[in-house]
Amino acid sequence: MSAFLDDIQTRLTEIRAEGLWKTEREITSPQGRRVKVAGREVINLCANNYLGLADHPALIRASNQAMADHGFGMASVRFICGTQDLHRALEERLAAYLGHDDSILFAACFDANGALFEPLLGEGDAVISDALNHASIIDGIRLCKARRYRFANSDMDDLEAQLKLARADGARHVMIATDGVFSMDGFLAKLPEIRALADRYDALLMVDDCHATGFMGPKGAGTPAHFGIRVDVITGTLGKALGGAIGGYIAGPQAVIDLLRQRARPYLFSNALPPAVVAAGLEALRLVEQGDDLRAALFENAIHWRAGLTEAGFDLLPGEHPIIPVMLYDAPKAQAMAARLFELGVYVSGFFFPVVPKGRARIRTQMNAALTRDDLDTALAAFARAGRDTGVIG
Ligand SMILES: *Cc1c(COP(=O)(O)O)cnc(C)c1O
Repeated sequence: MSAFLDDIQTRLTEIRAEGLWKTEREITSPQGRRVKVAGREVINLCANNYLGLADHPALIRASNQAMADHGFGMASVRFICGTQDLHRALEERLAAYLGHDDSILFAACFDANGALFEPLLGEGDAVISDALNHASIIDGIRLCKARRYRFANSDMDDLEAQLKLARADGARHVMIATDGVFSMDGFLAKLPEIRALADRYDALLMVDDCHATGFMGPKGAGTPAHFGIRVDVITGTLGKALGGAIGGYIAGPQAVIDLLRQRARPYLFSNALPPAVVAAGLEALRLVEQGDDLRAALFENAIHWRAGLTEAGFDLLPGEHPIIPVMLYDAPKAQAMAARLFELGVYVSGFFFPVVPKGRARIRTQMNAALTRDDLDTALAAFARAGRDTGVIG
Protein backbone atom coordinates (compact mmCIF):
# COMPACT_ATOMS: atom_id res chain seq x y z
CA MET A 1 0.00 0.00 0.00
CA SER A 2 2.67 2.58 0.90
CA ALA A 3 4.70 1.90 -2.27
CA PHE A 4 1.48 2.29 -4.24
CA LEU A 5 0.65 5.63 -2.59
CA ASP A 6 4.25 6.79 -3.10
CA ASP A 7 3.86 6.17 -6.83
CA ILE A 8 0.61 8.10 -6.87
CA GLN A 9 2.31 10.97 -4.99
CA THR A 10 5.07 11.04 -7.61
CA ARG A 11 2.54 11.38 -10.38
CA LEU A 12 0.69 14.14 -8.54
CA THR A 13 3.98 16.01 -8.09
CA GLU A 14 4.71 15.67 -11.81
CA ILE A 15 1.30 17.05 -12.76
CA ARG A 16 1.87 20.08 -10.52
CA ALA A 17 5.44 20.58 -11.74
CA GLU A 18 4.27 20.70 -15.37
CA GLY A 19 1.73 23.43 -14.54
CA LEU A 20 -1.12 21.05 -15.42
CA TRP A 21 -2.87 20.97 -12.07
CA LYS A 22 -6.59 21.67 -12.23
CA THR A 23 -8.39 23.26 -9.31
CA GLU A 24 -12.10 23.66 -8.72
CA ARG A 25 -13.72 26.87 -7.58
CA GLU A 26 -16.81 26.56 -5.42
CA ILE A 27 -19.84 28.43 -6.71
CA THR A 28 -22.46 29.34 -4.11
CA SER A 29 -25.15 30.62 -6.49
CA PRO A 30 -27.14 29.00 -9.30
CA GLN A 31 -25.31 28.60 -12.60
CA GLY A 32 -25.94 31.72 -14.68
CA ARG A 33 -24.51 34.69 -16.56
CA ARG A 34 -23.07 35.84 -13.25
CA VAL A 35 -22.17 33.47 -10.45
CA LYS A 36 -21.09 33.94 -6.87
CA VAL A 37 -17.66 32.56 -5.97
CA ALA A 38 -15.91 33.16 -2.66
CA GLY A 39 -18.46 35.84 -1.79
CA ARG A 40 -17.95 37.76 -5.05
CA GLU A 41 -20.12 37.99 -8.11
CA VAL A 42 -18.25 37.30 -11.35
CA ILE A 43 -19.26 37.20 -15.03
CA ASN A 44 -19.28 33.59 -16.13
CA LEU A 45 -17.81 32.83 -19.56
CA CYS A 46 -17.06 29.14 -19.20
CA ALA A 47 -20.35 27.28 -18.84
CA ASN A 48 -21.99 25.20 -21.58
CA ASN A 49 -25.17 27.08 -20.72
CA TYR A 50 -25.59 28.31 -24.29
CA LEU A 51 -29.24 29.34 -24.06
CA GLY A 52 -29.10 30.49 -20.45
CA LEU A 53 -31.59 27.81 -19.33
CA ALA A 54 -29.60 26.45 -16.37
CA ASP A 55 -31.46 28.69 -13.90
CA HIS A 56 -34.59 29.28 -15.98
CA PRO A 57 -37.72 29.61 -13.80
CA ALA A 58 -39.78 27.44 -16.18
CA LEU A 59 -37.35 24.53 -15.81
CA ILE A 60 -37.25 24.89 -12.03
CA ARG A 61 -41.06 25.00 -11.95
CA ALA A 62 -41.34 21.89 -14.15
CA SER A 63 -38.88 19.96 -12.01
CA ASN A 64 -40.60 21.00 -8.77
CA GLN A 65 -43.93 19.92 -10.20
CA ALA A 66 -42.49 16.56 -11.28
CA MET A 67 -41.09 15.95 -7.80
CA ALA A 68 -44.55 16.69 -6.38
CA ASP A 69 -46.42 14.36 -8.72
CA HIS A 70 -43.77 11.80 -9.78
CA GLY A 71 -41.53 11.67 -6.71
CA PHE A 72 -37.81 12.09 -6.23
CA GLY A 73 -35.98 8.96 -7.37
CA MET A 74 -36.73 5.84 -9.38
CA ALA A 75 -34.60 3.35 -7.42
CA SER A 76 -34.61 1.12 -10.48
CA VAL A 77 -33.16 0.64 -13.91
CA ARG A 78 -35.61 1.38 -16.70
CA PHE A 79 -36.67 -2.19 -17.54
CA ILE A 80 -37.46 -3.34 -14.01
CA CYS A 81 -39.61 -0.56 -12.59
CA GLY A 82 -37.87 2.67 -13.63
CA THR A 83 -39.88 3.85 -16.63
CA GLN A 84 -42.44 6.57 -16.00
CA ASP A 85 -44.71 8.23 -18.55
CA LEU A 86 -42.27 11.18 -18.40
CA HIS A 87 -39.33 9.09 -19.65
CA ARG A 88 -41.19 7.87 -22.71
CA ALA A 89 -42.58 11.37 -23.34
CA LEU A 90 -39.08 12.84 -23.38
CA GLU A 91 -37.72 10.06 -25.61
CA GLU A 92 -40.50 10.62 -28.13
CA ARG A 93 -40.13 14.40 -27.96
CA LEU A 94 -36.36 14.24 -28.51
CA ALA A 95 -36.79 11.88 -31.46
CA ALA A 96 -39.35 14.16 -33.11
CA TYR A 97 -37.18 17.24 -32.49
CA LEU A 98 -34.10 15.60 -33.98
CA GLY A 99 -35.99 13.97 -36.85
CA HIS A 100 -35.43 10.31 -35.91
CA ASP A 101 -37.73 7.35 -35.26
CA ASP A 102 -37.08 7.08 -31.54
CA SER A 103 -34.55 7.85 -28.83
CA ILE A 104 -33.25 6.28 -25.63
CA LEU A 105 -32.18 8.10 -22.46
CA PHE A 106 -29.00 7.54 -20.47
CA ALA A 107 -27.62 8.99 -17.25
CA ALA A 108 -25.28 11.16 -19.34
CA CYS A 109 -23.99 11.44 -22.88
CA PHE A 110 -20.79 9.87 -21.61
CA ASP A 111 -22.90 6.76 -21.01
CA ALA A 112 -24.75 7.10 -24.31
CA ASN A 113 -21.46 7.08 -26.20
CA GLY A 114 -20.20 4.28 -23.99
CA ALA A 115 -23.35 2.30 -24.79
CA LEU A 116 -23.66 2.85 -28.51
CA PHE A 117 -20.98 0.87 -30.30
CA GLU A 118 -20.75 -2.45 -28.49
CA PRO A 119 -24.28 -3.72 -29.22
CA LEU A 120 -24.40 -2.37 -32.79
CA LEU A 121 -21.00 -3.39 -34.18
CA GLY A 122 -19.15 -6.65 -33.77
CA GLU A 123 -16.20 -8.55 -35.12
CA GLY A 124 -16.13 -8.12 -38.86
CA ASP A 125 -17.44 -4.54 -38.63
CA ALA A 126 -15.44 -1.32 -38.64
CA VAL A 127 -15.68 2.03 -36.90
CA ILE A 128 -13.82 5.05 -38.22
CA SER A 129 -13.34 7.81 -35.69
CA ASP A 130 -12.13 11.41 -35.92
CA ALA A 131 -8.90 11.82 -33.96
CA LEU A 132 -10.35 14.70 -31.92
CA ASN A 133 -13.53 12.92 -30.88
CA HIS A 134 -14.71 13.27 -27.30
CA ALA A 135 -13.21 10.90 -24.74
CA SER A 136 -16.55 9.12 -24.33
CA ILE A 137 -16.62 8.15 -28.03
CA ILE A 138 -13.07 6.87 -27.78
CA ASP A 139 -13.98 4.81 -24.71
CA GLY A 140 -17.20 3.55 -26.29
CA ILE A 141 -15.32 2.38 -29.36
CA ARG A 142 -12.77 0.61 -27.16
CA LEU A 143 -15.58 -1.45 -25.68
CA CYS A 144 -16.75 -2.85 -29.01
CA LYS A 145 -15.21 -5.66 -31.03
CA ALA A 146 -15.28 -3.88 -34.38
CA ARG A 147 -11.98 -3.11 -36.06
CA ARG A 148 -10.91 0.48 -35.30
CA TYR A 149 -9.70 3.11 -37.73
CA ARG A 150 -8.86 6.73 -37.02
CA PHE A 151 -8.69 9.74 -39.33
CA ALA A 152 -6.88 13.03 -38.69
CA ASN A 153 -9.26 15.73 -37.44
CA SER A 154 -11.63 16.78 -40.24
CA ASP A 155 -9.19 15.49 -42.87
CA MET A 156 -11.43 14.21 -45.64
CA ASP A 157 -8.59 12.64 -47.63
CA ASP A 158 -7.62 10.65 -44.58
CA LEU A 159 -11.24 9.69 -43.92
CA GLU A 160 -11.53 8.40 -47.47
CA ALA A 161 -8.26 6.47 -47.08
CA GLN A 162 -9.60 4.85 -43.90
CA LEU A 163 -12.90 3.99 -45.59
CA LYS A 164 -10.97 2.32 -48.42
CA LEU A 165 -8.85 0.46 -45.89
CA ALA A 166 -11.89 -0.74 -43.96
CA ARG A 167 -13.51 -1.94 -47.19
CA ALA A 168 -10.26 -3.61 -48.32
CA ASP A 169 -10.12 -5.34 -44.93
CA GLY A 170 -13.53 -6.81 -45.73
CA ALA A 171 -15.61 -4.91 -43.17
CA ARG A 172 -19.27 -5.88 -43.19
CA HIS A 173 -20.76 -2.74 -41.64
CA VAL A 174 -18.80 0.50 -41.38
CA MET A 175 -19.70 3.37 -39.05
CA ILE A 176 -18.07 6.81 -39.13
CA ALA A 177 -18.14 8.53 -35.72
CA THR A 178 -17.61 12.25 -35.25
CA ASP A 179 -18.36 15.09 -32.89
CA GLY A 180 -20.68 17.61 -34.55
CA VAL A 181 -18.61 20.38 -32.94
CA PHE A 182 -15.06 19.92 -31.66
CA SER A 183 -15.41 21.55 -28.30
CA MET A 184 -11.86 22.66 -27.65
CA ASP A 185 -11.77 24.66 -30.91
CA GLY A 186 -15.42 25.40 -31.64
CA PHE A 187 -14.94 23.95 -35.14
CA LEU A 188 -17.83 22.20 -36.87
CA ALA A 189 -17.34 18.76 -38.40
CA LYS A 190 -17.47 18.81 -42.21
CA LEU A 191 -20.73 16.92 -42.22
CA PRO A 192 -21.75 17.39 -45.87
CA GLU A 193 -18.42 15.96 -47.03
CA ILE A 194 -18.51 13.21 -44.44
CA ARG A 195 -22.06 12.31 -45.50
CA ALA A 196 -21.00 12.13 -49.16
CA LEU A 197 -18.08 9.86 -48.30
CA ALA A 198 -20.30 7.71 -46.08
CA ASP A 199 -22.71 7.26 -48.97
CA ARG A 200 -19.94 6.50 -51.46
CA TYR A 201 -18.51 3.76 -49.21
CA ASP A 202 -21.87 2.56 -47.86
CA ALA A 203 -21.03 3.59 -44.30
CA LEU A 204 -23.27 4.73 -41.45
CA LEU A 205 -22.74 8.16 -39.90
CA MET A 206 -22.90 8.75 -36.14
CA VAL A 207 -22.67 12.31 -34.78
CA ASP A 208 -22.26 13.40 -31.16
CA ASP A 209 -23.96 16.79 -31.11
CA CYS A 210 -23.50 17.78 -27.46
CA HIS A 211 -22.17 21.25 -28.31
CA ALA A 212 -24.83 22.02 -30.93
CA THR A 213 -28.24 20.64 -30.00
CA GLY A 214 -30.54 23.46 -28.99
CA PHE A 215 -28.83 26.27 -30.89
CA MET A 216 -27.13 25.28 -34.14
CA GLY A 217 -29.29 25.09 -37.25
CA PRO A 218 -33.01 25.73 -37.78
CA LYS A 219 -34.90 25.33 -34.48
CA GLY A 220 -31.55 24.52 -32.91
CA ALA A 221 -31.81 20.92 -34.08
CA GLY A 222 -28.03 20.70 -34.33
CA THR A 223 -25.26 20.36 -36.88
CA PRO A 224 -27.16 18.01 -39.23
CA ALA A 225 -29.94 20.63 -39.42
CA HIS A 226 -27.35 23.40 -39.78
CA PHE A 227 -25.89 21.67 -42.84
CA GLY A 228 -29.19 20.25 -44.06
CA ILE A 229 -27.94 16.67 -44.08
CA ARG A 230 -29.17 13.38 -42.60
CA VAL A 231 -27.21 11.40 -40.05
CA ASP A 232 -27.98 7.81 -39.10
CA VAL A 233 -27.48 8.03 -35.36
CA ILE A 234 -27.10 11.09 -33.15
CA THR A 235 -26.11 11.36 -29.49
CA GLY A 236 -26.47 14.34 -27.19
CA THR A 237 -26.80 15.68 -23.69
CA LEU A 238 -29.29 17.43 -21.44
CA GLY A 239 -26.24 18.80 -19.62
CA LYS A 240 -25.45 21.71 -21.92
CA ALA A 241 -27.92 23.91 -23.85
CA LEU A 242 -30.96 21.82 -22.86
CA GLY A 243 -30.98 22.99 -19.23
CA GLY A 244 -27.54 21.90 -18.11
CA ALA A 245 -28.54 19.34 -15.48
CA ILE A 246 -27.65 15.77 -16.43
CA GLY A 247 -28.73 13.12 -18.90
CA GLY A 248 -27.85 11.87 -22.35
CA TYR A 249 -29.57 10.22 -25.27
CA ILE A 250 -29.18 8.39 -28.54
CA ALA A 251 -31.65 8.98 -31.38
CA GLY A 252 -31.86 6.92 -34.55
CA PRO A 253 -33.78 4.26 -36.48
CA GLN A 254 -36.34 2.25 -34.50
CA ALA A 255 -34.43 -1.02 -34.82
CA VAL A 256 -31.26 0.59 -33.46
CA ILE A 257 -33.04 2.08 -30.46
CA ASP A 258 -34.88 -1.19 -29.83
CA LEU A 259 -31.63 -3.16 -29.81
CA LEU A 260 -29.95 -0.63 -27.51
CA ARG A 261 -32.85 -0.95 -25.06
CA GLN A 262 -32.25 -4.71 -25.01
CA ARG A 263 -28.47 -4.76 -24.99
CA ALA A 264 -26.81 -1.43 -24.05
CA ARG A 265 -25.01 -2.06 -20.77
CA PRO A 266 -25.11 1.49 -19.32
CA TYR A 267 -28.87 1.41 -19.94
CA LEU A 268 -29.51 -2.06 -18.53
CA PHE A 269 -27.29 -1.77 -15.48
CA SER A 270 -27.68 1.85 -14.34
CA ASN A 271 -30.47 3.84 -12.73
CA ALA A 272 -33.26 5.66 -14.55
CA LEU A 273 -33.04 9.45 -14.70
CA PRO A 274 -34.99 11.19 -11.91
CA PRO A 275 -38.42 12.55 -12.88
CA ALA A 276 -37.46 16.16 -12.05
CA VAL A 277 -34.63 16.03 -14.59
CA VAL A 278 -36.82 14.40 -17.24
CA ALA A 279 -39.66 16.89 -16.78
CA ALA A 280 -37.22 19.80 -17.00
CA GLY A 281 -35.83 18.23 -20.18
CA LEU A 282 -39.32 18.31 -21.69
CA GLU A 283 -39.70 21.95 -20.67
CA ALA A 284 -36.26 22.78 -22.09
CA LEU A 285 -37.28 21.26 -25.42
CA ARG A 286 -40.46 23.32 -25.42
CA LEU A 287 -38.46 26.54 -24.86
CA VAL A 288 -35.83 25.54 -27.40
CA GLU A 289 -38.33 24.70 -30.13
CA GLN A 290 -39.74 28.22 -29.74
CA GLY A 291 -36.31 29.68 -29.01
CA ASP A 292 -35.42 31.72 -32.10
CA ASP A 293 -35.02 34.81 -29.88
CA LEU A 294 -32.64 32.95 -27.55
CA ARG A 295 -30.58 31.73 -30.48
CA ALA A 296 -30.49 35.23 -32.00
CA ALA A 297 -29.22 36.66 -28.68
CA LEU A 298 -26.60 33.92 -28.42
CA PHE A 299 -25.16 34.53 -31.88
CA GLU A 300 -25.30 38.32 -31.53
CA ASN A 301 -23.30 37.95 -28.33
CA ALA A 302 -20.81 35.66 -30.10
CA ILE A 303 -20.27 38.22 -32.88
CA HIS A 304 -19.83 41.12 -30.43
CA TRP A 305 -17.47 39.14 -28.21
CA ARG A 306 -15.34 37.87 -31.08
CA ALA A 307 -15.05 41.37 -32.58
CA GLY A 308 -14.12 42.93 -29.23
CA LEU A 309 -11.39 40.39 -28.47
CA THR A 310 -9.97 40.68 -31.98
CA GLU A 311 -9.86 44.45 -31.71
CA ALA A 312 -8.04 44.15 -28.38
CA GLY A 313 -5.33 42.14 -30.14
CA PHE A 314 -6.05 38.61 -28.96
CA ASP A 315 -5.32 35.57 -31.08
CA LEU A 316 -8.60 33.70 -31.61
CA LEU A 317 -9.46 30.54 -33.48
CA PRO A 318 -11.79 31.44 -36.37
CA GLY A 319 -15.42 30.38 -36.51
CA GLU A 320 -19.05 31.15 -35.86
CA HIS A 321 -19.71 28.85 -32.89
CA PRO A 322 -20.29 30.40 -29.41
CA ILE A 323 -17.14 28.57 -28.27
CA ILE A 324 -14.47 31.24 -28.75
CA PRO A 325 -10.97 30.09 -27.78
CA VAL A 326 -8.34 32.70 -26.93
CA MET A 327 -4.99 31.12 -27.80
CA LEU A 328 -2.17 31.48 -25.24
CA TYR A 329 -0.20 28.35 -26.29
CA ASP A 330 1.59 28.10 -22.93
CA ALA A 331 -0.14 26.36 -19.97
CA PRO A 332 1.25 28.54 -17.13
CA LYS A 333 0.37 31.66 -19.14
CA ALA A 334 -3.19 30.41 -19.60
CA GLN A 335 -3.40 29.78 -15.87
CA ALA A 336 -1.99 33.24 -15.04
CA MET A 337 -4.39 34.95 -17.43
CA ALA A 338 -7.39 33.07 -15.99
CA ALA A 339 -6.31 33.95 -12.44
CA ARG A 340 -5.90 37.64 -13.32
CA LEU A 341 -9.29 37.69 -15.02
CA PHE A 342 -10.86 36.21 -11.95
CA GLU A 343 -9.41 39.04 -9.84
CA LEU A 344 -11.01 41.40 -12.35
CA GLY A 345 -14.41 39.75 -11.98
CA VAL A 346 -14.46 37.42 -15.01
CA TYR A 347 -14.67 33.68 -14.60
CA VAL A 348 -12.93 31.73 -17.36
CA SER A 349 -10.92 28.57 -17.40
CA GLY A 350 -7.48 27.84 -18.83
CA PHE A 351 -7.37 24.70 -20.98
CA PHE A 352 -4.14 22.80 -21.39
CA PHE A 353 -2.81 19.28 -21.75
CA PRO A 354 -4.33 16.69 -21.61
CA VAL A 355 -7.59 18.30 -22.82
CA VAL A 356 -5.73 20.10 -25.64
CA PRO A 357 -2.35 19.18 -27.18
CA LYS A 358 0.83 20.38 -25.44
CA GLY A 359 1.78 23.87 -26.67
CA ARG A 360 -1.84 24.64 -27.59
CA ALA A 361 -3.02 26.04 -24.23
CA ARG A 362 -5.89 28.49 -24.37
CA ILE A 363 -8.69 30.19 -22.51
CA ARG A 364 -11.91 28.84 -23.91
CA THR A 365 -14.64 31.45 -23.66
CA GLN A 366 -18.26 30.54 -24.27
CA MET A 367 -21.13 32.81 -25.02
CA ASN A 368 -24.67 32.37 -23.78
CA ALA A 369 -27.98 34.01 -24.58
CA ALA A 370 -28.41 35.45 -21.09
CA LEU A 371 -25.23 37.59 -21.13
CA THR A 372 -26.03 41.27 -21.56
CA ARG A 373 -24.11 43.74 -23.68
CA ASP A 374 -22.95 45.33 -20.43
CA ASP A 375 -21.61 41.96 -19.18
CA LEU A 376 -19.68 41.55 -22.41
CA ASP A 377 -18.23 45.06 -22.45
CA THR A 378 -17.18 44.73 -18.80
CA ALA A 379 -15.55 41.40 -19.62
CA LEU A 380 -13.82 42.85 -22.70
CA ALA A 381 -12.25 45.61 -20.60
CA ALA A 382 -11.08 42.96 -18.11
CA PHE A 383 -9.58 40.85 -20.90
CA ALA A 384 -7.66 43.84 -22.27
CA ARG A 385 -6.29 44.66 -18.84
CA ALA A 386 -5.42 41.05 -17.93
CA GLY A 387 -3.84 40.57 -21.36
CA ARG A 388 -1.53 43.54 -20.77
CA ASP A 389 -0.79 42.53 -17.17
CA THR A 390 0.29 39.03 -18.25
CA GLY A 391 2.11 40.15 -21.40
CA VAL A 392 -0.28 38.33 -23.73
CA ILE A 393 -1.04 41.50 -25.70
CA GLY A 394 1.07 44.63 -26.11
C1 LIG B 1 -20.08 17.13 -22.85
C2 LIG B 1 -19.86 16.09 -23.89
C3 LIG B 1 -20.12 14.75 -23.64
C4 LIG B 1 -20.52 14.26 -22.27
O1 LIG B 1 -21.82 14.64 -22.00
P1 LIG B 1 -22.39 14.40 -20.52
O2 LIG B 1 -23.86 14.36 -20.70
O3 LIG B 1 -21.89 15.53 -19.69
O4 LIG B 1 -21.83 13.08 -20.07
C5 LIG B 1 -19.99 13.85 -24.66
N1 LIG B 1 -19.59 14.25 -25.90
C6 LIG B 1 -19.30 15.53 -26.17
C7 LIG B 1 -18.86 15.92 -27.54
C8 LIG B 1 -19.42 16.49 -25.17
O5 LIG B 1 -19.12 17.75 -25.43
